[in-house]
Amino acid sequence: MANQERMPVLFIGHGSPENAFESNVFSQSWSALAESLPTPKAILSVSAHWTTSENWNRGATAVTAMPEPRTIHDFYGFPEHYYEFEYKTGGSPELAGRIRDLVTDVRIEEDSEWGLDHGTWSVLARMYPDADIPVVQLSLDESLSPESHFEIGKELSKLRDEGVLILGSGNVVHNLSALSTETHPWATEFDSFVKECLISKDTDSLLGYERHPDAEMALPTDEHFLPLLYVVGAAGDNDPRFLNEMIFAGSISMRCVVYGD
Ligand code: ZN
Repeated sequence: MANQERMPVLFIGHGSPENAFESNVFSQSWSALAESLPTPKAILSVSAHWTTSENWNRGATAVTAMPEPRTIHDFYGFPEHYYEFEYKTGGSPELAGRIRDLVTDVRIEEDSEWGLDHGTWSVLARMYPDADIPVVQLSLDESLSPESHFEIGKELSKLRDEGVLILGSGNVVHNLSALSTETHPWATEFDSFVKECLISKDTDSLLGYERHPDAEMALPTDEHFLPLLYVVGAAGDNDPRFLNEMIFAGSISMRCVVYGD
């Protein structure tokens, strides 16, 4: 599309669903960030909370293609009103089709059953509370290599010239079995390692994150980390800027990464 401003790319450390409902440093920073950005025509969210794999019967990597995505309350033990909240924005079958055609590295399947999980809506409820921008989600195929996730991100970067905001939603460090009132040294170490990789644009070290000595504690599973690889792929030569550089509850990095704003 001509004369379209190139959109930024964001990784948001989403943390607890509480951030959707409470005004705190995290949710306030997300609101302020959205206000500082050009208004997107549509949003592509890569959320930690939608993982698929090769044996998933509708294909490996999926994109939501329904016109009205449902709000998925994929968490347990929170107050009743968390489960009543709906983020009633539209989907975009058109954007889903564009993504399917754009990505050649892997096969993208159109999905009509998922919707918006809390990785997406807990952030967007703060960034775009009017819910007036169409949103599609891309799933994480956990059988892919870090390089493949990164390559898909690179292919998606064209969408930035078409008014699409690419949002990765996860956490750079995410260990729910190690929540603590004191920050674990391994959480700080791994978070700093990632920051340095991003600043120096050392993609090889970033994609080799599993070899870091603290990786096993920082990421017992890696679905919260993988959205970052899409974001870095889509960022191209842009320099990162960081928000919320802190470890929450001992073992959750709330780091956000903003490119191209
Ligand atoms: Zn999460």
